[in-house]
Amino acid sequence: MSDWSAVTRPVPVPNEWTRPFWDAAKRGSLELQRCQACGHFQHPPYATCTKCVSVDLKFEPVTGGGTIYAYTVMYHTGDKRFAPAVPYASIIVELDAAPGALLAGNLLGAEYTEAKVGRRVEVVFEKLNDEITLPQFRLADAKPAERGA
Ligand SMILES: [Zn+2]
Repeated sequence: MSDWSAVTRPVPVPNEWTRPFWDAAKRGSLELQRCQACGHFQHPPYATCTKCVSVDLKFEPVTGGGTIYAYTVMYHTGDKRFAPAVPYASIIVELDAAPGALLAGNLLGAEYTEAKVGRRVEVVFEKLNDEITLPQFRLADAKPAERGA
């Protein structure tokens, strides 16, 4: 399993559009930008709604459960900071509560080979420093219907 403890991550720098997302993550909450005109969630944050072009946008809390929409496995150590974790899975997650909004993260606590499109994941918060906490993901328990009960 990847040794993330030895990785010194590049730290995201919030801007006027992304600051509410990072402030929420610091509080252990996942909040995404939502259009107040049409209800569309979008991520990353943007100046206008990508569906209806409204500028009436607010951040709203969402639950952290979702599915892996896409993934890639990193085998190369081009960025030496990540070398201790190679190979690792970078995943794109579609949240149940915000269809269409896609979050990027790493699959933590599991072998990279566990990353599969459609697998259930849930958000976990990885504190990088006093300012930035990174929403990441781990495998979630299978839905009751998938347990073969
Ligand atoms: Zn809209």
